[in-house]
Amino acid sequence: MGVIRRTGMFILQVNPILCDGFGHCAELAPELVHLDEWGYPIISKEPVPMADLGSYESARYAERGCPRQALHVAKVNSPAPVSNVPLNLPRPARAVSRERRPL
Ligand code: SF4
Repeated sequence: MGVIRRTGMFILQVNPILCDGFGHCAELAPELVHLDEWGYPIISKEPVPMADLGSYESARYAERGCPRQALHVAKVNSPAPVSNVPLNLPRPARAVSRERRPL
């Protein structure tokens, strides 16, 4: 028998349209899913290594156990790119030429 090496990352995604908010997933994958004050799942968008077998199995268990089929385990090949450029930078002021063009 060979050894299966799990590489890559995964994220657990929820379809908010399908979700009924009874929070069953938080019981099935408590390390990945937290509930908001109305019982809807809050799931981190940070990819989790596939090598974390406990989390991966919990995610698959929650995916299979969701009564509305609102959960999906998505494989991610690389971590989300981290941008060093802050968003919402102020736009540079436009240079206004006060010189008159020759006629
Ligand atoms: S188990 Fe499914 S339907 Fe229920 S709260 Fe979680 S994602 Fe929503």
